[in-house]
Amino acid sequence: MIIILFGAPGVGKGTQAVILAEKLGVAHLSTGDAFRAAIKSQTPVGVLAKEYVDAGKLVPDTIVARIVEEAMSAEAFSKGCILDGFPRTRAQANALDDMLTSQNLVITTVVNISVDDATIITRLLQRGRADDQEDIIRHRLTIYNDETAPLLDYYSGKGLLTSVDGIGEVEAVNERILAAL
Ligand code: AMP
Repeated sequence: MIIILFGAPGVGKGTQAVILAEKLGVAHLSTGDAFRAAIKSQTPVGVLAKEYVDAGKLVPDTIVARIVEEAMSAEAFSKGCILDGFPRTRAQANALDDMLTSQNLVITTVVNISVDDATIITRLLQRGRADDQEDIIRHRLTIYNDETAPLLDYYSGKGLLTSVDGIGEVEAVNERILAAL
């Protein structure tokens, strides 16, 4: 079971991914968490990624590929996985397809969590991570719309896309996602 949690920054992908991974008994990969950990421990990938993460820019695909390979063992993939924050570009989606094909795996579902921009900005300002300042949040939303949202068409074309309303209590949204799977 390979599930992609999709959506703009602040729609609740991270929160939902943790709960889903627990309920379904599968691994969870957040590329954002992996980058923050790498930056904190100043690994080579972390040193390369830092300027992009701090500025709310997408880390270049070649560096993303390195963190995904490090974070995702073939075994974790084969037992099932919730992907949160990856893929974010068409090149990443292609790389994921190649990775899965080589292991005879397929994407089960792509769940798009939708929340309006005003609610996203309020939520992220409350969360208060280093990259949760209003100008950086707006930049991340612009990048999402330009580079990541087009993947919705890609996955919809493959018949893999389902959408859920991300507004409401965490548990209520989780029930919606489980119902959509
Ligand atoms: P997130 O925790 O998903 O909001 O990601 C935080 C930051 O990590 C993003 O603003 C990017 O700088 C970087 N990042 C995380 N995942 C990716 C990805 N798949 N591609 C490029 N950059 C990423």
